[in-house]
Amino acid sequence: MSNKIRVRFAPSPTGGLHLGGVRTVLYNYLFARRHHGEFILRIEDTDQSRFVPGAEEYILDCLRWCGLMPDESALTGGPYGPYRQSERKEMYRGYAEKLVAAGHAYYAFDTPAELEEMRQRYRTAENPSPQYDHRLRGAMKNSLTLGEKETARLIGEGIPHVIRISMPADQILRFTDLVRGEVEFNTGTVDDKVLLKQDGMPTYHLAVVVDDYLMKITHAFRGEEWLPSAPVHLLLWDYLGWKDSMPQWAHLPLILKPDGNGKLSKRDGDRLGFPVFAMNWTDPKTGELTTGFRERGFLPEAFVNMLALLGWNDGTGKEIFSLDELVNAFSLDRVHKGGARFDFEKAKWFNHEWIKAATPERLLPDVKAALQQEGIDTNDDEYTKQVIVLVKDRCTFTTDFATQAGFFYRAPEQPDMQAAAGKWSPEKTGFFRELADSLPPAAGDAAAVEQVFKELAAKHGLKVGELQLPFRLMLVGGKFGPAVFEIAALLGAAETGRRISRGLQALA
Ligand code: GLU
Repeated sequence: MSNKIRVRFAPSPTGGLHLGGVRTVLYNYLFARRHHGEFILRIEDTDQSRFVPGAEEYILDCLRWCGLMPDESALTGGPYGPYRQSERKEMYRGYAEKLVAAGHAYYAFDTPAELEEMRQRYRTAENPSPQYDHRLRGAMKNSLTLGEKETARLIGEGIPHVIRISMPADQILRFTDLVRGEVEFNTGTVDDKVLLKQDGMPTYHLAVVVDDYLMKITHAFRGEEWLPSAPVHLLLWDYLGWKDSMPQWAHLPLILKPDGNGKLSKRDGDRLGFPVFAMNWTDPKTGELTTGFRERGFLPEAFVNMLALLGWNDGTGKEIFSLDELVNAFSLDRVHKGGARFDFEKAKWFNHEWIKAATPERLLPDVKAALQQEGIDTNDDEYTKQVIVLVKDRCTFTTDFATQAGFFYRAPEQPDMQAAAGKWSPEKTGFFRELADSLPPAAGDAAAVEQVFKELAAKHGLKVGELQLPFRLMLVGGKFGPAVFEIAALLGAAETGRRISRGLQALA
């Protein structure tokens, strides 16, 4: 088949994956599924100074957790590999040299000290950070100023050099972005970006174009922060003679701080108390741990659903979407141009909705993990599933199950019967003694517990409403949890009886 849709996510493995990165993955994934295309994961690791051990594995783990696995990657392989740019190093130099030969790029020998000197020398009030561009390249140490012979000599001697693109001084470039429509640039404002570095590695600019071409990418979606680089890439597609194969681009809107003031950063999350990374990330250099959505207690279904709606909607007001529903509903023409404000309260709402709708089977592993965190080992899955049914509506995060369900496994240590003060009077002791002895033996029958409870209350001349709070405190240890008869029924007669006795002791 000729024009098979091929998209790619192309992260640099430099640290934790920001939710904006996962949203880029998601839009790629949805577009690929929707059009029966292929989704590629390409690791852009050409900047060796920024290499962070573990970051690539982390990215794959995030994609796995979200259920957004690529069709081709360094992990799975595929017909267009390798999928790690560092392993493709030898492929790029030839293209850079072809550009030099055609006059679109040049060798530059400037040392870091000379570059710094240039910045100092040409700094003015109007131009505080002079760039290596069409204005200044004539004053620098490069093949344009040194001439062919001297250039050949320096290269022959192994003098370190880079290859830079020669950006035209004043050319208008245009392209149609799938999200933003017509976009226009003047090449004169862009500096002569390095294409090939001293170590022979390409920079992002060269590698992204070469690889999108060689990997037959048809659509490239990336964050809006890459828009300023587009003129460099447009020229490269043209200069390399590949213009007709250029992917269609979509620059996705930024994800903004909750107050709308600028791009959401990891620091905003730390400051405002919410996660920004998909999963926990420990910086291998500093040992600093950044909490992720997963560990905070998000279900991946909710996380993905929330991300889809950060910058897109289907136009009907529908908010809850499964991944399959998103595949069917998603289209780029409904992606917003403007930045999308991140709202943690809304993220919590999505998670709560997904937890409420989830089956106990779906939640079981997360709930067991949450309980285990609190030192509670669960071995009876049937019991835990019943617990889940009773408490899930009260949980916003999966981690909430630890507090909301812990008492089903552990009797309250010191039932705080003080809380019942207003509702307690010594004559209730007799009622509870008798209740402990009369509980229905069949577990799980809340209606039977309620019936016994009510009959005994009538017999003792007490109001049911006045008895329920002390009962709850005995069973739960606090003023929370689902209906008290449900709790007693699930705990069973023996355990409920024991907790009543302990509660009475605490009151005595
Ligand atoms: N490596 C770039 C990044 O880290 C990829 C940008 C693109 O998709 O072109 O975001």
